[in-house]
Amino acid sequence: MSKDRIIKVECQCGQLLFRYSKGGRGRLIKCYLDHIQDDGVGVVNAPLGARPACPDCGKAIGIVQMVRGRPALKLNQGAIQKIST
Ligand SMILES: [Zn+2]
Repeated sequence: MSKDRIIKVECQCGQLLFRYSKGGRGRLIKCYLDHIQDDGVGVVNAPLGARPACPDCGKAIGIVQMVRGRPALKLNQGAIQKIST
């Protein structure tokens, strides 16, 4: 049983980057890699320190870091569409 919702994460240029299974409410700050689906960026297998970019416009969408012991993409808030949950 899960309250997670699948949300679309899009670049500011409108390109769909991936879908993310998000638990809880609030602004999306980071995306745990194991919750990312339909990865159109290649972020799921990116190493720590990688800075994946939008496949369409090339803008850096964040950086891969450990967050609470799990690899996650810390989003560049200036590069993605606002997400309301
Ligand atoms: Zn883009």
